[in-house]
Amino acid sequence: MKQGAGLFPGPKEIHMFCNCPDAARLCKHIAAALYGVGARLDSDPLLFFKLRGVDPGELIKKSVEEKMRNLLANAGRKSRRVIADKDVARLFGV
Ligand SMILES: [Zn+2]
Repeated sequence: MKQGAGLFPGPKEIHMFCNCPDAARLCKHIAAALYGVGARLDSDPLLFFKLRGVDPGELIKKSVEEKMRNLLANAGRKSRRVIADKDVARLFGV
């Protein structure tokens, strides 16, 4: 996957600002807002997809299609994990 095209926001996509006089970069207001977002996501994880503008059903469908394409593209190739018949017989002494 291309960097910056993922589902999770990168650090540069997350901006926090509060105009309170607190000198802390992450003041209690921002911390409370982040906690609130976390609590909402805990109760309804599908909100994350909504926030990112992604249809989870479409994401799953595309993922399955991509996996199936890769499987079909490699269907004719012999895996290195397959033991040749003669070696299997020798392995089990038959
Ligand atoms: Zn604040």
